[in-house]
Amino acid sequence: MAAAEAHSAHNYHPLPVVVGTAEGAWMTDVDGRRYLDMLAGYSALNFGHGNRRLLDAARAQLDRVTLTSRAFHHDRFAAFCTELAELCGMEMVLPMNTGAEAVETAVKTARKWGYRVKGVPDGRAKIVVADGNFHGRTTTIISFSTDPEARADFGPYTPGFTVVPYGDLAAMEAAVDEDTVAVLIEPIQGEAGVLVPPPGYLAGVRRLTAERGVLFIADEIQSGLGRTGATFACEHEGVVPDMYVLGKALGGGVVPVSAVVSSAEVLGVFRPGEHGSTFGGNPLACAVGLEVIAMLRTGEFQQRAAELGDHLHHELNLLTGGGAVTGVRGRGLWAGVDIDPALGTGREISERLMARGVLVKDTHGSTIRIAPPLVVSKDDLDWGLAQLRAVLRG
Ligand SMILES: *Cc1c(COP(=O)(O)O)cnc(C)c1O
Repeated sequence: MAAAEAHSAHNYHPLPVVVGTAEGAWMTDVDGRRYLDMLAGYSALNFGHGNRRLLDAARAQLDRVTLTSRAFHHDRFAAFCTELAELCGMEMVLPMNTGAEAVETAVKTARKWGYRVKGVPDGRAKIVVADGNFHGRTTTIISFSTDPEARADFGPYTPGFTVVPYGDLAAMEAAVDEDTVAVLIEPIQGEAGVLVPPPGYLAGVRRLTAERGVLFIADEIQSGLGRTGATFACEHEGVVPDMYVLGKALGGGVVPVSAVVSSAEVLGVFRPGEHGSTFGGNPLACAVGLEVIAMLRTGEFQQRAAELGDHLHHELNLLTGGGAVTGVRGRGLWAGVDIDPALGTGREISERLMARGVLVKDTHGSTIRIAPPLVVSKDDLDWGLAQLRAVLRG
């Protein structure tokens, strides 16, 4: 391990496991030990490791063409954009690669829309965001983070953002003014500890933004594409935002694929040369993304996440009586579990789970997050929960 880290920047603190292979919900380390993956690459692996359909789609495309750049058309591009727009119930798609790039794209889109369509005076566009947010790691995005680790020493910061408390509709209403072009929020805050906003919040944001002529941008990079038991977490409140920001599971755990999806009025603001990415919307990404969309269209993964999620939350809530677990939040196959700090930090709990063959990731303090691939079997999920109970017993 020391050798492995001698030449890599220490921007991560991984658990001491070296994965060699993986299949479905399971990973195997280089010594042959098996681990249940209860993180699923922060939802990038919603369809599991080595998913047959996704690998077949990738392999077939590898033998055809993998990259053209957007200087030329390729034969998977139109289908990908059309079908993703349709899945989202929207009109236009702008494909990128990573989540952070898609969020940057959303920010640029909202600003340009603000100047060109809404009529905000040049240079004044403002975007309202929530505290505790996680939208990625670029200099502009960390400029509106409230996490000191993400932000400190990386200034000067990009202006144009106002931070309000998450879940507080009155604070958001007060922050929105005539220069506000967008509200950007996660419908469930993943990195913050799987925080579900109070009932009515998303619907309230929808109402407020519609009334004030402000774009509602939902960062569904982690919450979207099946994780919560619906295609989008916004659906749980019957809300359709003006723009979805997607990533992670869109690439099926195979390649990075992200996208901004919105109306023609909004994404129509771009002209050639104003935004782009060499790899964005490449043939391999589109082929894998198309298969992801086809899989989501059946609804089976959403249904699985809903059913297994009910079971997961039922089991986790049973733990809250005993004192070891002080809080459980989440939706679908996604949970933030607050552990009594007396039992150890989230990191220590994660290490003890690893010793029992379960891989999770702590978030802040003594919170661990549970988000297995949606293909996990009920038996495996129950086995993972049994390991958690054993760790909490000490
Ligand atoms: C992971 C994540 C991002 C950033 O995605 P990257 O692909 O790591 O750049 C942005 N927003 C949310 C909600 C995320 O979970």
